[in-house]
Amino acid sequence: MQLTVLPSSITASPLAEGKLVDRLGRGVGYLRLSLTKACSMRCTYCRPERIASIRGEPTLTPDEIQRLVEHLADRHGLTKVRLTGGDPTSRRELTEIIRRVAGVDGVRDVAMTTNGLTLVRRAREYRDAGLRRINISLDTLHPQRFAALTGVDGLERVLRGLDAARDAGLWPIRLNTVVVRGQNEKDLPDLVRFAAANDYEARFIELMPMGPLASSWKQRYVPEADMRSILDPIIRSWTPIEQGHDAARRYRVRLDDGAEAVIGFITPMSCNFCAACNRIRIAADGRLYPCLMDKPAGSILEALRREFDPDLLDAILAQGLEQKREEHPHDGYAVMTHIGG
Ligand code: SAM
Repeated sequence: MQLTVLPSSITASPLAEGKLVDRLGRGVGYLRLSLTKACSMRCTYCRPERIASIRGEPTLTPDEIQRLVEHLADRHGLTKVRLTGGDPTSRRELTEIIRRVAGVDGVRDVAMTTNGLTLVRRAREYRDAGLRRINISLDTLHPQRFAALTGVDGLERVLRGLDAARDAGLWPIRLNTVVVRGQNEKDLPDLVRFAAANDYEARFIELMPMGPLASSWKQRYVPEADMRSILDPIIRSWTPIEQGHDAARRYRVRLDDGAEAVIGFITPMSCNFCAACNRIRIAADGRLYPCLMDKPAGSILEALRREFDPDLLDAILAQGLEQKREEHPHDGYAVMTHIGG
């Protein structure tokens, strides 16, 4: 395969055998694609202000997204795509994009991370278009705290959305909770009971030093060990589940009332999972991020726009992989909503 060499020191090695492998030998089989910066929520730890629209900003079109995913699946064996944002449901063409991505030969798993607000009306439409499963942000089950945390009085709607998603066959369903000291750490036991009662997986995420709480991160971050101490009083046993490429350290737990649940801890700060990282991230504007916490390593927009140039695209991907560090930096570069968490 001929690589178009860009001005920087790109080597052909990451793509030489047709596989996306970084210089440490970590393969890439998983694309996280942010569809927009816009989101109808404004969570305290994620963004200070609502971004209503991205009209006028350079954005990958459904055609370009399809071309990208076809290229990655065909040349590099990509099998899994997660749509994220911002909130992917803020993108007008979401259903069309799901259909295009799910229709690509070789793509077996199309998932989405969302705030859950549109699921009541749209879960079946997304499922019919080819979406398989979802992760939903749910930081508390307390209606007022939910409103204070997200800027939207929408807990009831999200809970109805969860039911609609299950009814539509979107499964499994995972609940993502970012744990912030002084804000929602006391909600963890209720969230686990709720997950157990509904067979959802509860995932607790350590606050990362990005976004509005970056400067107070040290005071607000709750490490996994503290989360487990908060949960210990309601849990009789913790049985580890093999981690694989999953970012979460997962446990099957038995609760004090005999119920069972799966809990995952996503611990980018206290115990990173970089050695098993198999993902690459592309933002809505085409910027390529080797890591959630790092600077962009170029943009794929030009390679997809006008005349599609697969070799230029490969060269840009190679450059991104070349820059993928052994471990993520500890000072987040960008706002989560630009890259897609
Ligand atoms: N809007 C969607 C949602 O609500 O899930 C998808 C995008 S959101 C940026 C993806 C994930 O990143 C969510 O689980 C969110 O809670 C998490 N997140 C955002 N800012 C974070 C931070 N500073 N630290 C840790 N996780 C964060």
